Amino acid sequence: MLELGSRADFYQEMREETRSRALGLAVIGSLVFGQLLILLAEMRRFEASTSALGMLILLVPLGIWLLTRQHPNLCLWLLIVFYTILPLAAWQQGSLMILGLIGLPVGLAALASGPAYGAVLAALLTLFLLRRDLAFSHLVAIEMVWVTWGVVWVALRFAQTSTQWSWANFDYMRALLEEARTQRLHLKEVQQDLNQANAELARISDRLRAMYRVAEEARRAKEEFVANVSHELRTPLNMIIGFSEIITQNPRLYGRELPPQLLADIEVIQRNSKHLASLVDDVLDLSRTEAGRLALVREKVSMREIVESALTAVMPLFQSKGLSLTMDVPEGLPLVYCDKTRIRQVIINLLSNAGRFTERGGAHVRARVEDQTMVISVADTGPGIPKEDQERIFEPFEQYDGSISRLYGGSGLGLAISRRFVELHGGKMWVESEPGKGSTFYARLPLDVLAPLPVREGMRWFNPYQTYEPRTRPSQAPQPNVRPRLVVLEPSDTLKRILARHEPEVEVAPVHTLEEAIREVSRVPARALLINEALPPEGLEDVSTAARLPFGTPVIHCFIPEKQEAADHLGVVAYLLKPIQQEDLLAALDRIPNGVKSILLVDDNPEALQLFGRMLSTGERRYQIYRATSGERALALLRSRRPDVMLLDLIMPGMDGFAVLRQKRQEEAIRDIPVIAISALDAAPGGYATSFLNVTRGGGISLQEFLRCTEALTALLAPPERTGAPEPSERPLETVAYEDNRSRPESAPVPPGPESYTQ
Ligand code: ADP
Repeated sequence: MLELGSRADFYQEMREETRSRALGLAVIGSLVFGQLLILLAEMRRFEASTSALGMLILLVPLGIWLLTRQHPNLCLWLLIVFYTILPLAAWQQGSLMILGLIGLPVGLAALASGPAYGAVLAALLTLFLLRRDLAFSHLVAIEMVWVTWGVVWVALRFAQTSTQWSWANFDYMRALLEEARTQRLHLKEVQQDLNQANAELARISDRLRAMYRVAEEARRAKEEFVANVSHELRTPLNMIIGFSEIITQNPRLYGRELPPQLLADIEVIQRNSKHLASLVDDVLDLSRTEAGRLALVREKVSMREIVESALTAVMPLFQSKGLSLTMDVPEGLPLVYCDKTRIRQVIINLLSNAGRFTERGGAHVRARVEDQTMVISVADTGPGIPKEDQERIFEPFEQYDGSISRLYGGSGLGLAISRRFVELHGGKMWVESEPGKGSTFYARLPLDVLAPLPVREGMRWFNPYQTYEPRTRPSQAPQPNVRPRLVVLEPSDTLKRILARHEPEVEVAPVHTLEEAIREVSRVPARALLINEALPPEGLEDVSTAARLPFGTPVIHCFIPEKQEAADHLGVVAYLLKPIQQEDLLAALDRIPNGVKSILLVDDNPEALQLFGRMLSTGERRYQIYRATSGERALALLRSRRPDVMLLDLIMPGMDGFAVLRQKRQEEAIRDIPVIAISALDAAPGGYATSFLNVTRGGGISLQEFLRCTEALTALLAPPERTGAPEPSERPLETVAYEDNRSRPESAPVPPGPESYTQ
């Protein structure tokens, strides 16, 4: 970084520099001039006294200059005085030549101490010269004095102006530099923000892809479900409709007169069944179009024919309400390549809507050709549709006003299906309407033979009426390297440290409360929420069931405590890790208050029990030892023998050490018996860390996911194959057990274990 002193310092330095240069120049000039005088005197051009003068001019400035280092200012003024006196003295002696030097002290004073000093000296010299009779030589001397002063003044002025100009420029540059630095800092911050935003975006899009897959699966499942249910519903419905039709149309078929009330009721059943059947058909059609499974049967057809047949179908509705129904479809219109039945269905849908919602006036159907497309419009004089609802009514089951639908019936599927049909033809459908002024529905169909629209995955996610603009240049944004992110909820930072050490690739967001955790997972998507606590935090049920976490975020609950924390949590006085050393075991026993006489050893491995027994009996102490190879047996012995201490292995098949401790805590009589816990925790990589691992996920786990999880978990957690070679260095105790087990025939008696005996 550029460091600069103040402006005053700079001027001071400049003055000193000028002074030393002026002094140097004067001395050098004196040396040259003095030598010249001596030389001229030698050549007898001048009198002999000139030689002495030359000597003086040569030696005095040189002498003065030698003192420069110690007293620069004094030297300068001595020189000025010397050069003031010398010419005047020489002039007094009648030597006019030396008078030429009279300008020198003025120049020196002006250069070294400023123009003001020079001017004062010049004025004094002028006065001195004017004191005598005015001669031409006086005038020349005075002129030389002032010319010298003038030249120095102009030079100084020029130097000052340039310096000021440089300073101004320098200040300006410095301001620019400052601004550039601020900008650079700002840019760096913006870049950091961008990187972070990019990382979050990448995570979100990752999550989006997952969500998309979930949604797609759900959609496919829904379509299959709808198709199956529709099929199952239609069969019995057709029966109901068929039978009720037979009953209402041929009431005598059953041999006797049916009461009119019964017939009226059956008609209601028939009407409602028909409505239900048409609803089922609509739902099926919709699900087929969404699944892209609806095949169009296309041919070149005349639009006039289609419109006429649709008009015939809806005419009774219009006539019953006294509405007009007109059409304007010119004869010579080009043929349209479309599925006749589906397009007729679209026009019937539009016309029956117009008939149902219009109370006065009527409807008008028009067809015309526009830009190589056929535009069919159905205009009515009905209530109209507000602008904000004009898109919504094309969505399935959407009706802009519930009261209208109650009044006019309908299910809210007609327009959705119609739009899908038109879109399947590569066309487009929209409405123009104003409340109170009626509505006009438009369907635009391409005239040309078009290949069926490719049904792409995810196509439905983009609004087909919005144009997609592809990028014209590759993105300059840095590609973030997004690390998998875990939100860790724990009171201490045990898990955070473990993850940092063993999974440096994972980004950990530590939190301390459930609320914070939910906020953190919702802010930036995470792979999972890890909870490291003995008990699930309050409200966790809520999280998974009410899905307060972002959809699909798994919650993994475990308890990996610090060693002391683990001991406190289990209510044990000491915590020993396998393999156990004898001195550790004895030291742990020494810590038991009130001394130990009887010990209960609990381990599922009889050999381990034997080993502990051996450790305890080889010392000088004598203990009464009870042994148990299962949790249940241990509890029984605790109750019956009340040992002074229990040495408990935490990992056992069936009732494990944790269950024993839990049970023990509940029983008043044995609650106070101290426990030394034994486990392989941390003893080997992958050793025991948590007694449980609960996985929940808001929205549940699908059967497929469950099967995949089970496969992965069993592959990971299943006990090692007994046929495989054990790894003695990692699990010494178990190794002994396996080897012995294998070498022992199945029927061989098991060494004393569950029973207790006194040693
Ligand atoms: P529905 O079976 O309810 O008629 P549609 O999908 O055909 O289902 O229509 C959806 C909604 O659009 C209707 O419930 C109605 O609110 C509105 N709508 C449709 N056509 C008209 C029209 N011609 N005039 C006024 N509102 C209409």
